[in-house]
Amino acid sequence: MLIPKLCHICGLEMKPTFRHPLWCETCQRYFAPQPRCSRCGLQMQGAGLVCGLCLVNPPPWSNLYCAADYVYPLSPLIHKIKIAKQLSLLAPLMSLLHQAIPQSCNHLITVPMLWHKQLWRGFNLSETMAYQLQALEPSIAIHTKTFRKHRHTPAQKSLNRQARLLNVRNAFSLYQPPQVTEVAIIDDVVTTGATVRHLSELLLEVGVKKIDIYCLCRTPK
Ligand SMILES: [Zn+2]
Ligand SMILES: [Zn+2]
Repeated sequence: MLIPKLCHICGLEMKPTFRHPLWCETCQRYFAPQPRCSRCGLQMQGAGLVCGLCLVNPPPWSNLYCAADYVYPLSPLIHKIKIAKQLSLLAPLMSLLHQAIPQSCNHLITVPMLWHKQLWRGFNLSETMAYQLQALEPSIAIHTKTFRKHRHTPAQKSLNRQARLLNVRNAFSLYQPPQVTEVAIIDDVVTTGATVRHLSELLLEVGVKKIDIYCLCRTPK
């Protein structure tokens, strides 16, 4: 009780009266909800509206919800979770994501990893996120075998937009099609949206009517 808690973002001592598990009152401002396009999740003026790009060229999913943008300070936090395996940092971020979702879908579909990558990392963040969301919304069912990941694909980070789309098309296939018409796909970071676009198209092909995307963070344009 006597050891001062330090903010995970700025490293300064936290006021004991401010009771967030990760960040201080000053850093809280990074996590204020922003108005976003309800389709692609990018920031825009006016909440709950659809941006011009999505009006002209709507994505195959219905809504995308995220906790925040994939910029400082969320990007280093995600890095700590994935690379340094500091899973204790995840719950406060999942609580932000939960607050951003107006009504949770009852069927959550996770994004698979290659088995050896999962073995190396020790967890699949999409699945861990799904179980944490389920803890907040016990009516949620989790589907971890809907998709299968096939072969090693070059890291999406290293590719341009066009190459990412091609890359992802060969990477996933449908393994256990969902028996429901409304689902949400849960993933950690949505950058170009190539992965969730492909996964959504696979679901639409087998009769799923409504797909939402839940992600921890969205990479701004
Ligand atoms: Zn701070
Ligand atoms: Zn949009």
